[in-house]
Amino acid sequence: AKLAGKSCFRYYSRALDHAVERRLHLEQELRGAWERGELHLVYQPIFRTLDRMLIGVEALLRWQHPVLGAIPPSMFIDIAEQSGLIQTLGPKVLHAACLRARQWPCNGAGEELFVSVNVSPRQLRSGDLAAAVEQCLHVSGLAASRLHLELTETAVISDEMLAASLLEKLHRTGVKVWLDDFGTGFSGLSHLRQVPVDGVKIDKSFVADLQRDPDDLALTSAIIAMAHALGITVVAEGIEHQAQFDLLNERGCDLVQGYWLARPLDSDDLVRLLDAAPNP
Ligand code: C2E
Ligand code: CA
Ligand code: CA
Ligand code: CA
Repeated sequence: AKLAGKSCFRYYSRALDHAVERRLHLEQELRGAWERGELHLVYQPIFRTLDRMLIGVEALLRWQHPVLGAIPPSMFIDIAEQSGLIQTLGPKVLHAACLRARQWPCNGAGEELFVSVNVSPRQLRSGDLAAAVEQCLHVSGLAASRLHLELTETAVISDEMLAASLLEKLHRTGVKVWLDDFGTGFSGLSHLRQVPVDGVKIDKSFVADLQRDPDDLALTSAIIAMAHALGITVVAEGIEHQAQFDLLNERGCDLVQGYWLARPLDSDDLVRLLDAAPNP
């Protein structure tokens, strides 16, 4: 038993070494990946529920490594965050998204699309995000109202004082702020009163089981009612089936996003999609 335990430990520690090594390797590779052109943004359409009009997109980062292939954001965003690389990568993403958005045509209703950019917790804590946003709007010439920022609920709630002053500053730039992954933190609903946000994005883990799990449906309905009472927009992500769309539509969810509606697209495909839309 002792022997087995030992070899077991050795096995785990070797597996651990391996994981650590792999992470370090990826971190090294991620350094300079943007400059080498391995990173690019894709854009997932977001629709208004009422008329199913495409009104904006979420910018999502992709890493195509020349040898390792496609590395999922769930893996490299975390590495970028832990290593501090996100501090240089984040602003590049913001700039690229704003510049891109200027090239897109209007939707079928003649509305200009917004672009929603994910901001990681580390970016929130480091330096002046509002100043970076302002600079970015200035350089790109994008109207502030067309830029949305997605901050995770937990990052915002964890430091309420910081959050309040930061959100205040962000608001003055004219961009919209959404709380991402909403419902996954504990604080959720009661904190909505304190933090001045424009929207909440109901986490896809709630949407996933909407048709089967009465608790998820109840919670989602409560979030929508509460947010609307406070004048906050509700976005649902991760819609993969019509049944989920129907439930959200019935409950008055404002905006929807998910594979059932549209996958993330590169900018050229997005433009083609917009051009194909009927004009009124
Ligand atoms: P997120 O912000 O929650 O983004 C939504 C994720 O759900 C995206 O995964 C998107 O591709 C995926 N998704 C969209 N529709 C569906 C659906 O119908 N079903 C399912 N199962 N998934 C759907 P992705 O692109 O792999 O990104 C994962 C996470 O990585 C994002 O989660 C976000 O937290 C982070 N991320 C991605 N790009 C960036 C970035 O530029 N900056 C930062 N800070 N984080 C990013
Ligand atoms: Ca997001
Ligand atoms: Ca999310
Ligand atoms: Ca999520």
